[in-house]
Amino acid sequence: MNIIPLLTPSEAESRVSLLEMGLDELTEFVKGLGQPAYRARQIWEWIYQRYAADFEEMSNLPQNLRAQLAQQATLSVMTPVVEQVSMAGDTLKILFQLHDGQTIEAVLMLYDKRRTLCISSQAGCAMGCTFCATAQGGLARNLTTGEIVAQVLYFARYLATPGALPMTEVERPSSVTNIVLMGMGEPMHNYKNVWGALRRLTDPGAFGLGARNITLSTVGLVPMIDRMAEEGLQIGLAVSLHAPNDALRTQLVPINKGYPVDELLASVQRYIAKTHRRVTFEYALMKGINDSAELAHELGQKLQPLLCHVNVIPLNPIPDSQFQPSSDEDTERFVEILRGYGISATVRLRRGIEINAGCGQLRRSQSPGTKTREAVAV
Ligand code: SAH
Repeated sequence: MNIIPLLTPSEAESRVSLLEMGLDELTEFVKGLGQPAYRARQIWEWIYQRYAADFEEMSNLPQNLRAQLAQQATLSVMTPVVEQVSMAGDTLKILFQLHDGQTIEAVLMLYDKRRTLCISSQAGCAMGCTFCATAQGGLARNLTTGEIVAQVLYFARYLATPGALPMTEVERPSSVTNIVLMGMGEPMHNYKNVWGALRRLTDPGAFGLGARNITLSTVGLVPMIDRMAEEGLQIGLAVSLHAPNDALRTQLVPINKGYPVDELLASVQRYIAKTHRRVTFEYALMKGINDSAELAHELGQKLQPLLCHVNVIPLNPIPDSQFQPSSDEDTERFVEILRGYGISATVRLRRGIEINAGCGQLRRSQSPGTKTREAVAV
């Protein structure tokens, strides 16, 4: 495992995390160390373009600056504690521990030409969706901008190191090509830090990933969808719908009480009008709950006017849950009915089911505070 030693809480407190700084703040910091401003740009490039894990790697910095940085600053905001690889060798899931002991998950999925990374925006989640493993522990706290960015840098470093990944041999592209905010947490409930991270990840002078290659998935916080429409970044929007009407959606997604289906769809309509971008709806199919032909028709009628795609997700079964995945036949029927309305709909490939690739499941399977430093190949 690509272990970066985690600082003790007191070490972490006495050092500033450079990942929390924009370039302007980093420049001020470097000047405060009595160094010329251009050193900030060099450090910035080491972090975001060469994925340096520590200051010793920054070979074009003078030794005295590297020593000052090591004493006063850090790039290490989390450490991997469990690593799991799927049987097919195409999915790698990591549980990271943060300084305060909280844990979060991120998953890398290898496709032919894509390296898609699914990252977390919060430790835990406050939304309470009844079929979701993350929801069960409630919200611990928001992730900082640096903690969100650090997940991407960690995998970027991993991918860029030949032979490092404990999975299918990775050739080109050896970089993160796509990011989805579909890990733990509700990104719209941590709006400021998430957008701080999105700006850093898309900034051509920093990580420089195309905004179109990033998707933010939300449970449907209507005012935040309107706010996102004003951001002027081409980040993709995915909305977790899971039911076409309020009676059913409120049972599955309790925040539906505050933002009912029709209001949610109206905000998506405004979003499309403003951005001209196609929106994705996620619909996790649960046996006997939301998978009937009748509900598929209701959904088809509601979504027909929208420029959208429906991602039908086979439910990831979670232990002790009343919800089970739908059968293949019912899934196929559901998708066919939607297509009959002219709606683009696909069934999402289930990746890494045997490694608990669903939201929050690895974290839940570890008792709080464990420090397993082992890679688990399943
Ligand atoms: N909070 C955000 C993003 C994180 S969840 C959101 O709600 O969109 C990412 C996606 O996984 C959401 O669509 C969520 O509803 C779905 N999901 C959660 N638990 C699941 C499960 N057990 N099986 C399948 N999908 C699940």
